[in-house]
Amino acid sequence: MSYKQFSQLIHWSKDQYSHLPWRNERTLYRTLVSEIMLQQTTVGTVLNHFEVFLNEYPTIEKLAAASEEEVCVSWKGLGYYRRARNLRNLAIQIVERFDGAIPIDLDSLLGLKGIGPYTANAIVAIGADKRGLAVDANLERVLSRFYGIQIAKGPKLQQKLFKDFAENKIVPEIGKLSARNLNEAFMDLGRILCQARKASCTLCPLKENCVAFKTGTPLLFPLEGDKKEGSDLYIKLLRVIVKEKNKILFYQKSEKEWLAGQWELPTFMLDTNDEKLKQYPKIKTKKSYETLTSFKTGITKYKIENFVLEMSLAEFEKMSMKIETLYEFKNFHKDFNASTTSIKALKHL
Ligand code: SF4
Repeated sequence: MSYKQFSQLIHWSKDQYSHLPWRNERTLYRTLVSEIMLQQTTVGTVLNHFEVFLNEYPTIEKLAAASEEEVCVSWKGLGYYRRARNLRNLAIQIVERFDGAIPIDLDSLLGLKGIGPYTANAIVAIGADKRGLAVDANLERVLSRFYGIQIAKGPKLQQKLFKDFAENKIVPEIGKLSARNLNEAFMDLGRILCQARKASCTLCPLKENCVAFKTGTPLLFPLEGDKKEGSDLYIKLLRVIVKEKNKILFYQKSEKEWLAGQWELPTFMLDTNDEKLKQYPKIKTKKSYETLTSFKTGITKYKIENFVLEMSLAEFEKMSMKIETLYEFKNFHKDFNASTTSIKALKHL
């Protein structure tokens, strides 16, 4: 039914985006690297780093042989360093279990630690050009609009898409087209024309058969679920810049914390409405922190306001000792204890 439109969509996508480096020279390894890089990161950012990273690690064996720290340094600028560690771990597993040959069947891929349904399908469909549907937020949105699927976004919608795809109820035309080209085209469509808050339907090659367009309701899809508990969670953090001559104090986050392995400024919890949160030691302050320089960030479901305070090492030592005595931090980082190990954590600016 939609063969012609899907075919036009592929032409549109190829016209505009064939130049992307992971597309114009396609290998399984380059697909694996690009797919991990593109998670939670824009195409523009990945463009600046993809070839540089590949020059450093031209083969999966080279990547597997590198230390975690080396890979994280090469990942600089891409953020979310957990992905860098995950990519290296995948490389190690693939070298050890598959002699460096990236498998192209879903079962083997899903058996690797660190690969979920999206990446596995991306390697099968995009890397190997075999039947697969790489359902990320873009495909979830495009396909729920195109087919008018009345299921709230999230795992249930993704499962429904995978099930319908397996039963040939959606995108049955993929067999006659290219799985790689069609998956890439859906991704481009979701990124450029069929965005979460703006659907440019008049420009869209799929408009003729798109349920959401025909009913004038593109922005209603994918349906919003009930508001998740905790979706308005906030965190206020104190980020302390401790300077000593030309050095600044950092500590490395433990495996149990968010962004494990990353280096971070000493950070304390000023306030949050999530009582279960244990990520940072709490600090109470009589002085108003609201006047400090601040910037906003976010992670998962949390909105974060970061307040920045600068102090000397001596002041920090005093402060960290007070904190330990007053608030009995069980998980207090040893590196924060300036009288012992924090000196070792001083890094050159
Ligand atoms: S017609 Fe509109 S809603 Fe439908 S797929 Fe295209 S951009 Fe999205």
